[in-house]
Amino acid sequence: MNNVIEINNLSKKYYTRKCEVLAIDNITLNVYDGEFLVIVGPSGCGKSTLLNIIGGIDNKTNGDVNILNNKKIGYMLQSDCLFSWLTILDNALLGLKIKGLLTEENINYVKQLLNNYGLSDFINSYPSSLSGGMKQRVALIRTLALRPDVLLLDEPFSALDYQTRLKVADDVYKIIKKENKTAIMITHDVGEACSIADRVVVLSDRPSKIKKIIEIVMTNKSSPINNRKCKEFSDYYDMIWKEIDKYDKS
Ligand code: ADP
Ligand code: MG
Repeated sequence: MNNVIEINNLSKKYYTRKCEVLAIDNITLNVYDGEFLVIVGPSGCGKSTLLNIIGGIDNKTNGDVNILNNKKIGYMLQSDCLFSWLTILDNALLGLKIKGLLTEENINYVKQLLNNYGLSDFINSYPSSLSGGMKQRVALIRTLALRPDVLLLDEPFSALDYQTRLKVADDVYKIIKKENKTAIMITHDVGEACSIADRVVVLSDRPSKIKKIIEIVMTNKSSPINNRKCKEFSDYYDMIWKEIDKYDKS
């Protein structure tokens, strides 16, 4: 398995006026090319901090994060980050526009993605006329427009109700796999983690250390909704839940 990201002995301290907060304590982790890696851990443990450092939008204190072979990283923002006054096409083109990359080829690529993922009838509509799931697909396409190799997703479905969440997680997973991307996703939903992940990284309470890395192997593994019906699903669910529960009591 090829690595796309190598994280070695990573630590992060925040300095506030009153004190210092150690958010990440000596994390070493490799991310494999093409995998769907999910990070779970208690609220405030340092998950977003870790993702922000990988994405280059926050600084590390110690250690290294190596992005191999000049792979490009993309951050998927939440669906509610669509601008209400821009059409779906303009929202999807926004990242390209900001980066000065609005070439005909890139615009056609975005139109093709909108077409492939059921949004071609809505390119001139505004976000208010789309369902939560469709908006999330636009947010994903906006990120894919920049042709990243690795997608970072920080609790991407948290604003959605449960039913929509299941469907959208399924959609987003299928698109990411079809486009051959590597994904690193944060969630605190254990069911979501074991239905979508190739591997789940369980982090400890703050300062976050790696508690356990669990490879999710299922006999009939397919998409997240179907994986919930696999016989192994509940075992993984219990296994991850126990890991999280352990440090709640300690
Ligand atoms: P999570 O995403 O797991 O909920 P975060 O990575 O957002 O956690 O935060 C980890 C810890 O670092 C929290 O205790 C939070 O209060 C602290 N923290 C996050 N950002 C800052 C900041 N800019 N300055 C000071 N402390 C911060
Ligand atoms: Mg967070």
